[in-house]
Amino acid sequence: MSLKKNPTSTDLAKKRWYHIQNRSRRMKLPYCTLEDFSRFWLTEHICEYCGILEEIWLLKNKKKLEIDRKIVKSGYVLGNIVWACRNCNIIKSDILTYEEMKEIGKKYLEPKWKSRDA
Ligand SMILES: [Zn+2]
Repeated sequence: MSLKKNPTSTDLAKKRWYHIQNRSRRMKLPYCTLEDFSRFWLTEHICEYCGILEEIWLLKNKKKLEIDRKIVKSGYVLGNIVWACRNCNIIKSDILTYEEMKEIGKKYLEPKWKSRDA
């Protein structure tokens, strides 16, 4: 058996979905099918809140974007999952609402990473 050095996008989506499935079962939360998740995976990987692209986030932090639930209790279902960078995910936590975090990301966080790039 050989190890795959460059997993395809589909492999990565599957891996992430299995992780979500385990987490959802543990937390007794609803979650989407692998097919739905694969469609979500094809959307642009960009932080919903501060607008940072995964490529840029990856260069700065050596990490991929995370998957956030807009409404925490609603689980990992389509329409409730969005891409989020670690910073935004931590700041939002279960304290801020989706709308509040959108406002904060746009107003305070996006200008910060954009000015650091300049
Ligand atoms: Zn962000």
